[in-house]
Amino acid sequence: MAVFVFIEHREGKLMDISFESLSAAQKLNDTVVAVVAGENVSDLAEKVAKYADKVIVAEDPKIDTNNEAYTRVLNELIKKEKPKVVIMGHSSMGMDIAPALSVDLGLPIATDVVKINPEGGKIKVTRSIYNGKVLADYNLKNADTYIITIRAGEFSADDLKEKNGKIEIVDSLLKDEVADKKFVGYVQPVVGAVDITQADILVSVGRGIKDKENIPLAEELAKTMGGVLSCSRPIVDYGWLPKERQVGTSGKTVKPKLYLALGISGAFQHVAGMKGANMIVAVNKDPKAPIFSVAQYGIVDDILKVIPALTQKVKEIKG
Ligand SMILES: Cc1cc2nc3c(=O)[nH]c(=O)nc-3n(C[C@H](O)[C@H](O)[C@H](O)COP(=O)(O)OP(=O)(O)OC[C@H]3O[C@@H](n4cnc5c(N)ncnc54)[C@H](O)[C@@H]3O)c2cc1C
Repeated sequence: MAVFVFIEHREGKLMDISFESLSAAQKLNDTVVAVVAGENVSDLAEKVAKYADKVIVAEDPKIDTNNEAYTRVLNELIKKEKPKVVIMGHSSMGMDIAPALSVDLGLPIATDVVKINPEGGKIKVTRSIYNGKVLADYNLKNADTYIITIRAGEFSADDLKEKNGKIEIVDSLLKDEVADKKFVGYVQPVVGAVDITQADILVSVGRGIKDKENIPLAEELAKTMGGVLSCSRPIVDYGWLPKERQVGTSGKTVKPKLYLALGISGAFQHVAGMKGANMIVAVNKDPKAPIFSVAQYGIVDDILKVIPALTQKVKEIKG
């Protein structure tokens, strides 16, 4: 039985979620078949082949960055190859393609999955619900093929094993141009002066900071520690810090040596962007805050007390 992995790529680059999807597929101990579709994708297929038993390449300029086109290609391939599982990212692309496939082919779907457990011929999945407070197991009803989208950051690409699979080029599976949906172009965000993805130390503030007036407190701590200030999404929504400082699924993915989370609850959209940090220290007045489940060290207290105390201590240590 094969496990299909839909490979996401953009402007000639493979997206991180593609490697995470391959990692999820490898854990099922089945034949991993990656599907790479689009225009000029042979280089990408070679990179992917390192981690798959087989790569199916559907090269066609008509496919060109159009989710409807990818859906039609996958639809044809699933009907032909009948994989046991189809895995893709719970990204904006996966959220568009996977439900459409499920409806078109009448297949069960599990979305935003954090764990996949095969049991005999059946598939059980785990989803994290209520903002990360509950992990729920689901049994999927018996079917020939299951469609699963995985949450970013849950299946580490570091676990990937090398496979060096073969590449199979298939004839274009897109019979007609997609007439009702056209790709117009990418709009790149403006590159800011600060790149939080490059920082070794991130001091990150969340809604617990309470007021814009308190941001300089955290800024001073970041500066004293030789780090950079980042934040959760509400802080950007309030206009207290610019978007380039936001960590999370709709912000940046960061992997600093130290991530200090101050007054951040630990919603999965935030955690997905920072759980790859080497060391996570969280300060939160709520001992049950989900952020403590990803932190190595935690302080249960008011950040408005802890931040000045930490700044003072670091200053003392640095002399
Ligand atoms: C499509 C989508 C995309 C999203 N993308 C992102 C994203 O990229 N990044 C992101 O961060 N969020 C994102 N979110 C929002 C996310 O769901 C959460 O709402 C957000 O992360 C919560 O931010 P927070 O932890 O700062 O605030 P809250 O959830 O309000 O948590 C504040 C925390 O501060 C603590 N606190 C309060 N006062 C103090 C104090 N004085 N001292 C110590 N602790 C205190 C509280 O106990 C609480 O745990 C997204 C949501 C959606 C729907």
